Amino acid sequence: MFRVIYMYVCPICKKRLRKLDNVWHCQNGHSFDIARKGYVNLLTTKGRNPKNAGDNAEMVNARTDFLDRNYYLPLAKKTAEVMGGLLENVKQPYIIDSGCGEGFYTVNYAKALPKAKFYGIDISKAAVAHCMTRIHCGNITNCEFAVASSFQLPFIDKFADLIVCTFAPVSNDEYARVLKDGGKLVVVSPSPRHLFELKEVLYEKPYENKPNVYGLNKFDESEEMIFEYPVVLESQEDILNLFTMTPYYYKTSAEAVEKLKKVNRLELTCGFSIRTFTKKRGF
Ligand SMILES: [Zn+2]
Repeated sequence: MFRVIYMYVCPICKKRLRKLDNVWHCQNGHSFDIARKGYVNLLTTKGRNPKNAGDNAEMVNARTDFLDRNYYLPLAKKTAEVMGGLLENVKQPYIIDSGCGEGFYTVNYAKALPKAKFYGIDISKAAVAHCMTRIHCGNITNCEFAVASSFQLPFIDKFADLIVCTFAPVSNDEYARVLKDGGKLVVVSPSPRHLFELKEVLYEKPYENKPNVYGLNKFDESEEMIFEYPVVLESQEDILNLFTMTPYYYKTSAEAVEKLKKVNRLELTCGFSIRTFTKKRGF
């Protein structure tokens, strides 16, 4: 269905990679094996900062257990709808899911937009390995995955029609480089009220999330949609899994965690900001 296109670049010398059997090669002799699960690791030692290595296996598992309960499925569907609207006039769009995590969103985006080809990247190898499990189990054929950094995207210039970034770091320069002229960017982040009720359990003075400032000066912002809906978590397991996948996991006292462990049911606001940008001319 898709013409064969070699879209990856060598993370060391930036030359285009070509695939031969199960290995991606560049003309300068750098090579990258395709893992048994089917992804390629294109993270250089420079990008492999241990302090910023992405989610570990425990966090990936907590995230997967929680996401598989589909509390965030309405968000995935709404975001796919926004992307579909932006790509109305593109026959076979190429979409990068930047910071794709363990693949819940990528796979749901790919199901909703079957004519698009998705390239998911994440800095966490454990997360990317799980993406492959998701596409094999779900029989999804329009996704490929690589271990890579959003700040050193392993793609050729002006390749993608759209980049989606769901709760992940945003890179002004790299996004502008790999998007086609007039390419679109969709950034999903928590809204001010997202999970406020969870914070009420954890903190004496819970605060609303501040709006994100991205510094995307190579883009024009066209729209922001606030998408909110209520959910009820009916088990301690779901509540703790959700907690483990939030940033609060790192900054909450042991005492507060004990308090949370006594909660069996939690009514929550899920709130998201879905922002749309267009790449400016001249970049
Ligand atoms: Zn190379």
